[in-house]
Amino acid sequence: MLLKGKTAVITGANRGIGKAILETYAQHGCAIFACARSADADYLAHLAQLQQEHQVAIQAIPLDLADETSIKAASRAIIAQAASIDILVNNAGIASGGLFQMTTLAEMRKVFEINFFAQLLFTQGIARKMTKQKSGSIINISSTASLVPDPGTLTYGSSKAAFSRATQSLASELGAFNIRVNAIAPGVTRTDMYDQMTAAARDALINRSALKRPAEARDIANSALFLASDLASFITGQVIRVDGGIF
Ligand code: NAD
Repeated sequence: MLLKGKTAVITGANRGIGKAILETYAQHGCAIFACARSADADYLAHLAQLQQEHQVAIQAIPLDLADETSIKAASRAIIAQAASIDILVNNAGIASGGLFQMTTLAEMRKVFEINFFAQLLFTQGIARKMTKQKSGSIINISSTASLVPDPGTLTYGSSKAAFSRATQSLASELGAFNIRVNAIAPGVTRTDMYDQMTAAARDALINRSALKRPAEARDIANSALFLASDLASFITGQVIRVDGGIF
């Protein structure tokens, strides 16, 4: 019960890594604002089941990171309802693959809009509460692609590199308010995004990793649990690679 009595905001909580973080946090006694673009019956039933099983409050919040109005409305709604916000996990993001010469500026802008600017706008809203209460842990889900410049990863990798770099600036500014800010850089992880990668691109990374397997979403969620918890009380401004050792 590493998060008992805490409250978290998780984006992209409906599937993949975000869903694994949602489940892990609920298991550890955390109340959760579960943000997703839409909420179908299966998703709402899953939230209700987690709530019942772990005796924690879980609330679905609509959030579309492609829409500035939705981002502002979501952070306002959360702040209005939460007594405190201890943890923010900026997990939602989009993939993009393609050689530089084949990638349009419109695609680059779209990816940066979601993976970078939208993350910062949402964080600005939620951090307002954290700075007032003078505590918090923010966890940004970056990517090993920010560090490993394989062909076809310019757009996605650069958006995540910007996000990792922003993590360090946020840590530096928000430290004065007792807010820790860290990023996790997952390697190849078995989610829907994994299915969007070509087998060649996936295998290239997996084969040169020390552990020679893709991550499961739970591998990433466990590091997000550690960073959110008081066990990581003196860790901030770090980008932690959870990639099975990609060199
Ligand atoms: P996924 O595609 O299963 O999940 C992506 C999540 O982001 C979904 O919940 C989706 O609804 C949400 N999302 C996408 N666009 C959105 C928008 N406009 N508004 C709100 N939500 C939106 O993939 P995943 O692997 O679970 O990805 C989670 C995070 O992990 C992403 O930031 C991704 O870049 C990162 N990541 C994934 C891998 C991997 O191999 N799967 C590797 C490194 C980093």
